[in-house]
Amino acid sequence: MKKNKNNLIPLYRRIILKISGEVLKDSYEYGIDLTLLNRIVKEIKSLMELGIEVGIVVGGGNLIRGASVKKIGISNITSDYMGMLATIINGLVITDTITNYGMKTYLLSAIAVSSICKQYNVEQAINLLSNQYVAVFSGGIGHPFFTTDTTACLRGIEVKADIILKATKVNGVYSSDPKKHQNAIMYKYIKYQDALIESLGIMDQTALVLARDHNLPICVFNMYKSGALHRIVMGEQEGTLIAT
Ligand code: UDP
Repeated sequence: MKKNKNNLIPLYRRIILKISGEVLKDSYEYGIDLTLLNRIVKEIKSLMELGIEVGIVVGGGNLIRGASVKKIGISNITSDYMGMLATIINGLVITDTITNYGMKTYLLSAIAVSSICKQYNVEQAINLLSNQYVAVFSGGIGHPFFTTDTTACLRGIEVKADIILKATKVNGVYSSDPKKHQNAIMYKYIKYQDALIESLGIMDQTALVLARDHNLPICVFNMYKSGALHRIVMGEQEGTLIAT
């Protein structure tokens, strides 16, 4: 691991960054805000320069959200496959942008789409990360009825990541919706169990249970705050840490 300009060594060796569709579209109604994506990729580059291994799990809600498609009469399973395909589209744009910044990157998908990218397997994922590729994991876990938050925790456990960094549009986990409740407080730290009991809506329960059972910490942070990602990996207080 390399030191940063203040001679400090990063806290984490291998991270999984979860980027949702909601973050990717920013203020757009639909699609990807490329200005924002370029800024995210620049921040990823600064982590790579510190010797941190970066895996990305990408969401798809900016293109297709399973729940919305279900409402218009498409079956659950078809809607979810459409959602998983959307994550592959995002994955293509993310890897393309990462390549533009001179980094090595590789897209894997949990669903076989052999003319686009290789199918996910854990050995290859670990190999890519160990060889300074930004590994982009798309296609969710490859099964309907799951989410990309669960995928992030699952991939994190499989590749033995030190932490999941969940990029959001808010500063962290709040006791209630800060837009609706003026006295909502932001937690700097919350136990898995409390996050599960309080049902704070920041992550689905399957994801939280997986993380809890494998003692994988999650940091929920604001991707729109410049330098937040860097501050987290250097051990500074940023966002909310969900842990034991
Ligand atoms: N999805 C799925 N299985 C998975 C991951 C995702 O069926 O393992 C589907 C689901 O329909 C979901 C959509 O893909 O609504 C997009 O994923 P998600 O909602 O997690 O994306 P995000 O909210 O992070 O943009």
